Amino acid sequence: MKCLYCGEPFTPKRKNQKYDTTECSKRASNDKTKARYHSNKEVKEKICAGCGSKLSKYNDTDLCALCIAKNRNGSKIDFGNIAWE
Ligand SMILES: [Zn+2]
Ligand SMILES: [Zn+2]
Repeated sequence: MKCLYCGEPFTPKRKNQKYDTTECSKRASNDKTKARYHSNKEVKEKICAGCGSKLSKYNDTDLCALCIAKNRNGSKIDFGNIAWE
């Protein structure tokens, strides 16, 4: 049996013992808590500032694709209004 935290071989004294020392067990559970905290942070939902629909976490902007497209169209129209007359 190897310690799941440090990888050192050990003889388990209890059934289901995963770590050689309580120190390793504590550290491992600390790491898990941290990992959970980080994954929560990443999964945290982003919402479109334009229409309030859910955004992909890979979306770096505050707008969904639709609103970005609308904005683009809008700015095109604005450009049209400014036009060269
Ligand atoms: Zn260990
Ligand atoms: Zn939107």
